[in-house]
Amino acid sequence: MIMKKNLIFLLSLVFLVSCSTEKEDDPDTVSRIISEDFAQEVIQDLVEEHGAEHQDRISRGIQQAAALWREGDGSARDFSNFCQQHFISDADERRLVFDRISRNFEYLYGYMNRISLELKVPVHLARGPVHQVDQLFSAYNPSAHIEDDFFNNQMAFLIILNFPYYSLEEKNENGAQWSPMEWAYVRLGDYFTARVPAKYSQQYAKASSDARLYISEYNIYAGELLDEQGNKLFPEGMNLLAHWNIRDEIKSNYGVEQGLPKQQMLYQVMLRIINQDIPKEVINTDEYQWDPFANQVFKEGETVDFQPEGDRRYQHLLNLFNALRQIDPYHPVLDNFIERRFDAQMEIPQQEVEDLFREFVGSPQVEKVAALIEERLGRELQPFDIWYDGFKARTGISEEELDQITKNRYPKAHDLEKDIPMFLRKLGFSHDTARFIAGHIQVDAARGSGHAWGASMRGKPSHLRTRIGEDGMDYKGYNIAIHELGHNVEQTISLHMVEDYMIRRVPNTAFTEALAFMFQVRDLELLDIRQDNPLKEHYDALDIFWGNYEIMGVSLVDMNVWKWMYDNPDATAEELKEATVEIAKDIWNTYYAPVFGVEDVPLLAVYSHMIQSPLYLSAYPYGHLIEFQIERYIQDKDFAEEVMRMFSIGRYTPMHWMDKAIGEQISNEPQFNAADRAVEKIREAMQ
Ligand SMILES: [Zn+2]
Repeated sequence: MIMKKNLIFLLSLVFLVSCSTEKEDDPDTVSRIISEDFAQEVIQDLVEEHGAEHQDRISRGIQQAAALWREGDGSARDFSNFCQQHFISDADERRLVFDRISRNFEYLYGYMNRISLELKVPVHLARGPVHQVDQLFSAYNPSAHIEDDFFNNQMAFLIILNFPYYSLEEKNENGAQWSPMEWAYVRLGDYFTARVPAKYSQQYAKASSDARLYISEYNIYAGELLDEQGNKLFPEGMNLLAHWNIRDEIKSNYGVEQGLPKQQMLYQVMLRIINQDIPKEVINTDEYQWDPFANQVFKEGETVDFQPEGDRRYQHLLNLFNALRQIDPYHPVLDNFIERRFDAQMEIPQQEVEDLFREFVGSPQVEKVAALIEERLGRELQPFDIWYDGFKARTGISEEELDQITKNRYPKAHDLEKDIPMFLRKLGFSHDTARFIAGHIQVDAARGSGHAWGASMRGKPSHLRTRIGEDGMDYKGYNIAIHELGHNVEQTISLHMVEDYMIRRVPNTAFTEALAFMFQVRDLELLDIRQDNPLKEHYDALDIFWGNYEIMGVSLVDMNVWKWMYDNPDATAEELKEATVEIAKDIWNTYYAPVFGVEDVPLLAVYSHMIQSPLYLSAYPYGHLIEFQIERYIQDKDFAEEVMRMFSIGRYTPMHWMDKAIGEQISNEPQFNAADRAVEKIREAMQ
């Protein structure tokens, strides 16, 4: 994973929380004070003054600025004067102004990022207890006021006027002709496209942090679960955070004795969470015993009454929707969250994402892979087998042996940091490049499972946060650390080696995930452990294929729930619950029931991301699709050379990035072909 914080820098400023109370906007000030007609007059004046060759840019800049000009910014006459004074037609002067802004934004956002990073150190790193004061600093956002400040001092208007915004459609249509510097100008135009009053941004921030808190405290005490005969199947004290740990526990019970009843029990728990008939009493406490099949709660062997959770889960989602809907009218373009998430952040239209996912989950390859899984399991598929985990290739070395190797080599964070130049050399990076990249990566011992926090200015390091146990780094931690290293390498190349600061990074999170996955699969190679399983490549292909089949279904539910909310803006939490369950069943019945042989399963609605990170899920399958295509493209090429070339392209739209990087667009085809081949090879080997 990468930190959400970086996402904010990676994308635009649309989501910066601002809390100035100086100019408290009213909902009715959304209505513009510069009329269309008046804006047209100003456009005509400027075109007369500067010449028709500037017509397009003048008209864009003025219309966009007019839509965001508020009463507090001045009269219509002030607006006209502002445009007269600040429109730049001379190319050299425009370049000079751009360079100044680009330089200053690098310092501004670079240090803001740095401040956040430093203030969060006590919370993020494994350094003694966390005090309340640490939490307060950690939640503080130093860049919260930048957007307000730059509208107040009119810097935002100067930028809009001279470096206007282009829609995704326009970027995709014209981007092939743009030089990297023209892309940089266009990226500057993405900065100030909305003007959201502080109170609404704060309401969203509040709804969002409430939802995160709700999810972060949703532990199910597996040790207190009872089967229909009253037996406990899980060890005393085991607790599982929904849905991640419950899913992972289902995964880890394949090929294990007594695994199936445990999986069936956890599946029941998931259904109760989705349907919200889960007893409130069993969430986040181990005070009661719970039979999730009969939905009965016990204390000291006696049945006790309970309260079902009701619709709390869906109330959080609804709160997020309502907070975002209040923000919508302050976006002159992309005035709903679905469009902002897909057109502005991911830069792939929602319909395109949905079509791609539907093509995948409805593909004939699914049936073939499912049949193979059924054979390997020796039983009919059950709904939770969307998490089948039996395609992990065996290395010939046990996890315990691997743990020993990594614990010996990496007792401290610093020991891993020392090895990064050597890792990069092994992957084929030149001596100098390896030293440069490694010199910009700092490894810290983290509290959580780890993350990669990129720098937002050149010269500052990116941080690889990794979990190191008392007795050193275990193999699981090492494997994740190498994933994070992939992010850090991307963060370093795409900041230092792009043409301009304004096109730093990659098109969206899926692209950085792709490189992280590419590093992660090479983790054993970096330890000089050769993998002799000739079928490894094919097992990996099926593992990714089945993973995408699952997560694309989950993402389809997520997207369609958001569409439903926009179609039913006055819905209650109860209605939202019913609709979500219906949508999940509908996706299941179309794409999963034919494979699993059972209808009306709402399981795809279980993901916690749906509740705390709206519309984020689609990034995961895209990461794997991109990884797959890049891997195939570089098969007969030099890994390091190609990584350097691709990740220094910069932040074009996904369409233009893919075109420049590998000369083809994101598609399912490579995974379909790989799945076909893998099923064939594995079946051959089974004979
Ligand atoms: Zn990641």
